[in-house]
Amino acid sequence: MPALLRFPDRQMAPARVLCIGRNYALHIEEMHAARPEAPVVFMKPSSSLVDTRSRLCLPRRQGAVHHELELVVALGEGGRDIDAARAPALIAGLTLGLDLTLRDVQSRLKAAGQPWELAKAFDGSAVIGDFVDFDPALHPLDRIEMRCRVNGELRQQGTSGDMLFPVPALIAYLSQHWALQPGDLIFTGTPAGVGPLVVGDTIALESPMIGAFAWTCE
Ligand code: ZN
Repeated sequence: MPALLRFPDRQMAPARVLCIGRNYALHIEEMHAARPEAPVVFMKPSSSLVDTRSRLCLPRRQGAVHHELELVVALGEGGRDIDAARAPALIAGLTLGLDLTLRDVQSRLKAAGQPWELAKAFDGSAVIGDFVDFDPALHPLDRIEMRCRVNGELRQQGTSGDMLFPVPALIAYLSQHWALQPGDLIFTGTPAGVGPLVVGDTIALESPMIGAFAWTCE
């Protein structure tokens, strides 16, 4: 069954999965990467989505699979050349997600100067929780806290306030390159603490403003 964007009282079909890389200084440091001048953008196909009713199946025999905990934004309205000040009005909902990454494959691709799809866009690579309806009063976009634990051990902890490019700026930037659509998802980048997942691990994502979600890796 294809994954859906699950809201408290409705569902939406996903459109595109737009992802941001290198959006937190401490993660850039742990990856020994350079701080970008503009958002680093890549995409995953909607067929890579795993929702809260789907199984999380890790790829086999391709080296390390890393968890990247991310705030995920779902758009309820689209548009082109959106002003950052108006961008929050396009947001339908928020959740937490995992940008699963084949880290060894990505290192090889980076070294060869090749695109990242094999490392980032495989089946099951875009994991999403259930969405809360976005309410700017309840969900200040620059103060969303999030954590992830693997088998109970705290692995990642962050706040959206540490993003180099905040959510409204990301929406504005993406809308200069694509006409955004309802159902588009934005994975907004990961804070520090990425690390490997193996079959049998339970990964739990949690934010006081959004909720808690867990999957066991198969
Ligand atoms: Zn990521």
